[in-house]
Amino acid sequence: MTDTAERIQNINRLKQNIYREYGYYYYVPMAEAYTVQVPVTVGCSYDKCLYCNLNQGRKFRELSFEEISGHVESLRKIHEGRNPKRFLLAGGNPFVLSTEKLLRIADLIRSNFPECEYISAFSRADDITRKSPAELHALHEAGYNRLCIGVESGSDDVLAFQNKGITRAENLRAMNMLDDSDMDYSLYIMLGLGGHNMSESHVNETATLLNMSHPFSLTVVTLVIFKGAKLIDRIKSHEFHRMHPLDAFKEGRELLSRLEISTIWDATHKTNIFPLKGKIPEHKEKLLQRIDDVIAEIESGDIKQYELKRWRKWGTE
Ligand code: SF4
Repeated sequence: MTDTAERIQNINRLKQNIYREYGYYYYVPMAEAYTVQVPVTVGCSYDKCLYCNLNQGRKFRELSFEEISGHVESLRKIHEGRNPKRFLLAGGNPFVLSTEKLLRIADLIRSNFPECEYISAFSRADDITRKSPAELHALHEAGYNRLCIGVESGSDDVLAFQNKGITRAENLRAMNMLDDSDMDYSLYIMLGLGGHNMSESHVNETATLLNMSHPFSLTVVTLVIFKGAKLIDRIKSHEFHRMHPLDAFKEGRELLSRLEISTIWDATHKTNIFPLKGKIPEHKEKLLQRIDDVIAEIESGDIKQYELKRWRKWGTE
């Protein structure tokens, strides 16, 4: 075996060991796809959202500092000769960890990777609001930045129905606290989350909430029904009326048209029927025009069939 082949084999072995507990796939924020992922938690400490089965039955677990230390040592070996700058704490909501532990982890990452520019993480709004302004400031000083919050909707009715365990006011408070501590953040918004019945309030209230926020990027996804998600029972009992993907796409148009903030509209996630991305306000009119063109193509039957087939496949994952 050549030196290169042996090195690749060693790297694969180290990666398998580091990410073993996360299963076949795990979710990372779209805006942080090209970061070094440091395992610190497995699963989500909440794990009760009706539409979600990202954790696939895995119980939430906080890794011990010794385990994290071992993984960082392996990551150092994997990146030998390179100086990665962007890091992500892996897990459904690693920002739930205590400030003390997050600070120790930041120290560990920065001492192993001195060129680290920032450490990102998925966070629930209440993981942020449980921390004091002084703690958030200290975390930012230690390198935490570009947190990603799954806001999903600005409507309390939608959030309550989906058992999100977070209100609109809490999401707003968390974003204000990040603004005050100078931490950048990206947000997830989910089209179709209110189904047909709550579509209007979903769009209206998400637009007004977003217009009070300052995310550097909006990741726009469309509701898909994960195998094992509790939402399936609500669909069967007719309490939730799922939207056709085209109607969810139209929701996206309506939402975008109402936004007055400066951010990136990133709707390239594969759950959407058509990928779109651009800066707003700079590209807003072009994006809206493109959406209108796509809607017209779909409604006239010109849409490439594979796009809808692809969505149908996702829609029943
Ligand atoms: S959507 Fe996020 S907060 Fe809700 S259960 Fe899934 S991982 Fe946890």
